[in-house]
Amino acid sequence: MSKKLLLKDAHVEGIRYFDVYRKQGGYEALEKALKMTPEEILEEVKTSGLRGRGGAGFPTGLKWSFLAKPEGVPRHLVVNADESEPGTFKDRYLMEFLPHLLIEGMLISSYCLGSNTSYIYIRGEYSWIPDILEEAIEEARNAGFLGKNILGTGFDCEIYVQRGAGAYICGEETALLESLEGKRGNPRLKPPFPAVKGLWERPTVVNNVESIAAVVPIINITGAEYAKIGVGKSTGTKLISACGNINKPGVYEIDMTITVEEFIYSDEYCGGIKDGKRLKACIPGGSSVPIVPANLLLRTINGEPRYMNYESLADGGFATGTMMGSGGFIVLDEDQCVVEHTMTLARFYAHESCGQCTPCREGTPWMYKILKKIENGEGTMADIDLLWDIQRKIEGNTICPLGDAAAWPVAAAIRHFRDEFEWHVKNPELAKTQNYGLANY
Ligand code: NAD
Ligand code: SF4
Repeated sequence: MSKKLLLKDAHVEGIRYFDVYRKQGGYEALEKALKMTPEEILEEVKTSGLRGRGGAGFPTGLKWSFLAKPEGVPRHLVVNADESEPGTFKDRYLMEFLPHLLIEGMLISSYCLGSNTSYIYIRGEYSWIPDILEEAIEEARNAGFLGKNILGTGFDCEIYVQRGAGAYICGEETALLESLEGKRGNPRLKPPFPAVKGLWERPTVVNNVESIAAVVPIINITGAEYAKIGVGKSTGTKLISACGNINKPGVYEIDMTITVEEFIYSDEYCGGIKDGKRLKACIPGGSSVPIVPANLLLRTINGEPRYMNYESLADGGFATGTMMGSGGFIVLDEDQCVVEHTMTLARFYAHESCGQCTPCREGTPWMYKILKKIENGEGTMADIDLLWDIQRKIEGNTICPLGDAAAWPVAAAIRHFRDEFEWHVKNPELAKTQNYGLANY
C-alpha cells in the first residue's frame, strides 16, 4: 500500500474546517517553519527532491532558488489552480476536501519566498471551490495563522482567490499572470521566467496546488525523509486522477514505486478494466502527453515492468514512451476508437488556442478538420501523411507549450495506431458506423 502524505486525513469528517484540520495536526508545519529561517526551508524543499506537480516536473527547490530578490521590490507566490488539462482533477479534490492543506502550504512557501501577498488563480469552472477556499482563509485568519504579524513573528501574509473565466490557456503560467493582471490571457515569451519578471513585472513563483500542498509534509517529516519515499528522482508521493474505462475512477495517492500494471488492475487503485474488457491504450499524464498502446504501457521497450514515476513513464523517449505529466490517467478499453479520441482532443486544442502564433492558430483547426474527415470515412492515405506533416511543423515552433500539447497526441496516435487510421480510409462505410476495436489487431 502506498504511503499517504497529502490524503492521509481526507477521510476524516469535517477535515475541510479549521478545528478538525488543527486537531489532526494541521498548522504544526507552519509553526515549525516560522521558527526556521527562509534559507533553511528552501534547503528542506531542495533536499526533498519535490518536482512540480502541475505537469512539467521542474524541481521546486531549484525554481524557488531562481527567485530574484532586488531591494525594495515585492515578490509573489501564485498558486496555479487553473486545472484544465483533460483527465486531470486532483487539485480540485485537494482544494475541495483539504483547503487548509493548501493554505498552510502557501503560508510556509510565502514565508520562505518573502511573499506578503499571495494568490490562488482558480479555474472558472470550479465555481463552488472559491467559497470553500475563502472560508478556510477566514478561519486561518481568525486563528492568527494568516494576515498581519502571524503568530507574533512579524511575518505578514494575505492570500487572495482569483477566478479564471474558462480559458484553458490561462493555466499556462505567463497567460495566468496576464489574466491576473486583468488582461487577456496571452502567454508571454520566456525568458524572462516569472521567477525574474512575473506578476506586475515582479519576481514571482508560480506553483501548482499539489506542489504547494506537498510543502506541508516536507516540513513535518523533513526533506530527507520525504526524499526516501519513492524512487530515484521521483521522490515523495503523487496524486493521480484516474478516469476512462476502469472500474474505480478517482483520485489516488501513490508513492511512485508501483507498476503501471498494479495501478490499473489492483483493487486498491483502478480495479481493472470495466466490464472485463481488454486494455487498449492509456494517456497517463493528462491529454497533453502521448498516448501509449497497452504493450508499451505495461512494459518498457526492454521488457522491464513500467512504473508509475517520471523516469519509467518517459523511458523510451517520445518514440515509445510517454510522460507523467499532471497525473491525469486516462484509460481506453478495446472498444475505443483512437481516431475519434484524437479528433476530440484536436477539437479541444483548436478551440483553446489563443491565436498568437501561426503554427498553433492555423495548425490546430487544420488537424481537427483532417481528423474529422478520416473519422467520418472521408479521408485519404495522403491525409494521414498531411496530418503527420502539420503536427511536425507545430511542435517546437510556438510561444507556449499548447502547440506541442496539440501536436504530440496526434503524432503518438499515428505512430502507434497508423493501421487504425488506414482502416478508416480503406473502410469508409464501416468507419461511419463502427469503431476499430482491439479485435482488429
Ligand atoms: P516548463 O518546463 O516550461 O516550465 C516549468 C516551470 O519551471 C515553470 O514554472 C518555469 O517558469 C520554470 N522554469 C523552467 N526553466 C526555468 C529557468 N531557467 N529559470 C526559472 N524558472 C524556470 O513547463 P510549463 O509550461 O510550466 O508546463 C508544461 C506542462 O504543463 C505540460 O507538460 C503539461 O503536462 C502541463 N499542463 C498541466 C495542466 C494542468 O491542468 N495541470 C494543463 C496544461 C498543461
Ligand atoms: Fe497561443 Fe497556441 Fe501560441 Fe500558445 S502556442 S501562444 S496557445 S497560439
